[in-house]
Amino acid sequence: LHNKCAKLNKCDELVQGDENMADILQMYINGEWTFAESGEIREVLNPATGEIIAVITEGNEADARRAIAAAKHAFYEGGWWDTPASERARLLFEIANKLEARAAEFAALETDDNGKPLREAEFDVADAVACFRYYAGLATKPHGQTYEVADPMQAMVVREPIGVCGQIIPWNYPLLMSAWKLAPALAAGNAVVFKPSEVTPLTAIRLFSIIDEVGVPAGVANLVLGAGPTVGQEIASNHDVDKVAFTGGTATGRTIMKAATGNLKKISLELGGKSPNIVFADADFDTAVDYALFAIFANQGQVCSAGSRLLLEESIHDKFVEALVERAKKIKVGPGHTEGTEMGPLVSKAHMEKVLGYVEIGKEEGATLACGGERLMDGALANGNFVAPTIFTNTTPDMRIVKEEIFGPVLVVQTFKDEADAIKLANDTVYGLAGGVFTNDGAKAQRVIRKLRAGITWINSYHPTYNEAPWGGYKQSGIGRELGTFGFEEYTEVKQININLNVEPIGWFEN
Ligand code: NAD
Repeated sequence: LHNKCAKLNKCDELVQGDENMADILQMYINGEWTFAESGEIREVLNPATGEIIAVITEGNEADARRAIAAAKHAFYEGGWWDTPASERARLLFEIANKLEARAAEFAALETDDNGKPLREAEFDVADAVACFRYYAGLATKPHGQTYEVADPMQAMVVREPIGVCGQIIPWNYPLLMSAWKLAPALAAGNAVVFKPSEVTPLTAIRLFSIIDEVGVPAGVANLVLGAGPTVGQEIASNHDVDKVAFTGGTATGRTIMKAATGNLKKISLELGGKSPNIVFADADFDTAVDYALFAIFANQGQVCSAGSRLLLEESIHDKFVEALVERAKKIKVGPGHTEGTEMGPLVSKAHMEKVLGYVEIGKEEGATLACGGERLMDGALANGNFVAPTIFTNTTPDMRIVKEEIFGPVLVVQTFKDEADAIKLANDTVYGLAGGVFTNDGAKAQRVIRKLRAGITWINSYHPTYNEAPWGGYKQSGIGRELGTFGFEEYTEVKQININLNVEPIGWFEN
């Protein structure tokens, strides 16, 4: 593969069927596997070893336009709009079943591509299966309303698909984010143009082989591979796309929102966070320590809802930090496929450098590095993007490491005096994605959670997420919600239908 990549900066001269093309993974447009029109390719790397694990075709605006045209045709003329909900449900159940049957293979591929420990990849696949099943079930449930209006009218509301939906996802949960996007959009009857992250496209490509196998009609679900500024931008700006659903960084979300203004397409944005995890002195100590670790170090800290700011009541600060640091140092960092690995590599070299850059910023700002802060390169880790679990104490609210999303295994600790102070600090952020509170005082827990300006919250827990419940942020963490019935409704238009029960002239004009 190495040799082939060296040879193929461009595969212009190659024709389909050429043996050199055999290993290049393709996009899926209008029910067919296809190479990018430009002939460009991209290498996909294993973040644990730096090795090339796949070569993919690299699409651009032209390929995105092909996919959008296919989706538009499938939706309006191809009959997908009129496909009964029961048929859409059947297809989604089939996808879930086939994915479940190949769970081990998908989990292994996710670990190869993203780096996450295998046990996390296994959870992701199971969650993706459950997501397809949830929306398969929801497709056939009642969605409209009727309501009383003045006699002689009867009124009702129906929900209809929006049309062509563009979907753009990040690299931190490649398969799971694919499910969160595709399942509700297809359940609601839309046609989709889907773009995975160029950094981690492999499980999405394989998922589309299942979509093909189960017989989703041509053009209904299209996969375009390529970069954000080319494919992503085309999806966000193209006037034949009726909605764009995006998960990724807040800055990119802003670009997409601007691009979407041309045809005023519907948008939903799931963006970044800097979420507070608040621990009161009366909390169950061991539970709070355990969850504080999970909140920041799961998935190497590359979680939009990560509890990246730990807010400790002053009286427990020293004892808590001591326990936390002791356990953080023991986290087993290694390749995701190695038995016993608890934390894997960061997704790419560039991202690792960004995270390590924040560690330097933290030091310069005068925070105390309580543990970690360095790249790990011993033995098998030498060529991977491994960063030690990192904790900063003695921080102040104005520090960049406290304000900005680092999206890596870096925790900042803050302290508070009382309940009001905790709420003030917790909300002192432009983000509003998630937050947790640990206390054994039930009323206090509820008071604090109700004051948090965030969309996803936990009491005496952190991170569990359910297909049934809405996911999304306040403030600059996003617009709209995914999952649950809310997530389904984001993929529908609402139509009121007024029915005259007394069919005779109205007589408004005399003559
Ligand atoms: P990113 O914003 O760089 O990229 C996300 C996707 O957008 C990729 O597919 C990328 O190719 C595409 N993109 C990039 N520039 C684009 C442009 N100009 N136009 C259109 N598309 C473009 O984010 P990332 O680095 O892949 O992921 C990390 C970010 O995602 C973090 O900020 C994290 O908080 C966020 N995230 C949010 C959620 C959530 O549910 N709120 C979930 C996961 C990740």
